[in-house]
Amino acid sequence: MPIDATLPYDPANIFARLLRDEIPSRRVYEDEWAVAFHDIAPQAPEHILVIPRGAYVSWDDFAANASADEITGFVRAVGTVARARGLVAPGYRLLANTGGDGGQEVAHLHVHLFGGAPLGPMLAR
Ligand code: AMP
Repeated sequence: MPIDATLPYDPANIFARLLRDEIPSRRVYEDEWAVAFHDIAPQAPEHILVIPRGAYVSWDDFAANASADEITGFVRAVGTVARARGLVAPGYRLLANTGGDGGQEVAHLHVHLFGGAPLGPMLAR
């Protein structure tokens, strides 16, 4: 069920719980600003989620309210994960679903990192 990205941050959301180690994850990277882990239902051979440590509902919330250090740290972490997993030369795709029409289901900003095979058209119609 897609979320309303205009609602306030809910600290009980599943990725907040994952950040607090209340639920397990298969982490592949973490630093001061971000954590990356395998998506539980992968849609490509490589399907990693990268999330900021800060409490941001969506890309919109993050873009509007995160500090310059948080934004820099998060963007660099996404690049670092892609590079470390050998995805730069073959190529990869980033996706940040936002709100209802975007199909966002978890109310903590996450960027999907897809790769490992040709990914086909950008949107299924
Ligand atoms: P979105 O539709 O962009 O909000 O994507 C949410 C993503 O989170 C989906 O691809 C889910 O498979 C993934 N997901 C949900 N719960 C977990 C979890 N506990 N660990 C890893 N990935 C998860």
